[in-house]
Amino acid sequence: MNTLEQLCFFTLLYAAAVYAHEGDWEYENNGTAAWEDAYPECAGAQQSPIPLSREDASLWEPAAQRQAGFRLHLQGYGAAQRGLFANDGKSVALTFNYTDVDSAPHLVILNNGSVASYTLTRLHFHWPSEHWINNLRYPLEMHMVHKDYYNSTLVLSILFTTECGVPNTGMQTVAAATRQVKHSGDTVPVEHFAPVSLLPPFLQRDCGYYMFAGSLTTPPCTEGVLWLVHEVPLCIGRTQLEAFRNVHKTDGGLLAANARPLQAVNGRPVLYLPCQR
Ligand SMILES: [Zn+2]
Repeated sequence: MNTLEQLCFFTLLYAAAVYAHEGDWEYENNGTAAWEDAYPECAGAQQSPIPLSREDASLWEPAAQRQAGFRLHLQGYGAAQRGLFANDGKSVALTFNYTDVDSAPHLVILNNGSVASYTLTRLHFHWPSEHWINNLRYPLEMHMVHKDYYNSTLVLSILFTTECGVPNTGMQTVAAATRQVKHSGDTVPVEHFAPVSLLPPFLQRDCGYYMFAGSLTTPPCTEGVLWLVHEVPLCIGRTQLEAFRNVHKTDGGLLAANARPLQAVNGRPVLYLPCQR
C-alpha cells in the first residue's frame, strides 16, 4: 500500500467506526459516558438530567411571577387525540397524529409581554427516573415533548411513584399499549386519548414545578431545551410499572433501564414555582 492508499484505508476504517457508533448508542456497560465520542454536545455545560431540590432552587413566588408578567397555560390537553405508540428499542413513545393542528394540545408561556406557544408532539418514558428530587429517584419519568414555531423544544416532565393509592387514569392506557409493543419496532395505534389524563391537577393550576434550561437526555443531547419538572409524582400501579420493565431493546435483550445519569448543574439557574399556600 502506498501512502495515499494507506490514508484512504485508514479514513475508511475511521468512517466505519464513526458510522457504527452513530445511532448505535446504548445505556448499558457505562454506555452513556461514551455518547460524547460520537455526539460532542453530550459533553456540553447545560446537560440534562440534573438533581433538583427546593434548597438549591430560586423560589419564584406567584406575586413575583405576576410582577414579571409570567403565566403558563395548558390548552387543549382535555380533548381526545389519536397517535401511534411504538417501541424504538430505547423507550416506548406515543407520537400524536393531529387532524387539526390548531386545536392540538399546547402550552403557552407569557413572559414579560412575549408569548411562546409549544405544541405537544410526543411523550415517552424513562425507567427509573432521570431527574432526582430531594435525593430521591422515582421508578418512572414521563417526558412530554413540545415544539414551538421555531422548533425550540420544551419538555414537561412528570414523575411516577408506586408509593401511592389509586393509579393515575391515563397510565392504564399507556401500560396496556406498552404491553403490546414489547419488541423493538412494534407499534400499536392509540385512539381517543386525552393527554390531560397523564397530568397532575396541580400543574393545571400552573404551579408546583421546577423550570430550567437543559438538553435532550439522549444523543445528540441538543441543548437549549426548556425543562418543566413537576415536583409531586403521580401514582402508578406495580403491575403497570412491570409493563415498562418488560420492554425489549433492539438486540432483543431486556431494556432494564433507560435513564441517563445526573449531569453537572454548572451554576445554571433553576426556578421553583410554588403553589399558593
Ligand atoms: Zn426523555
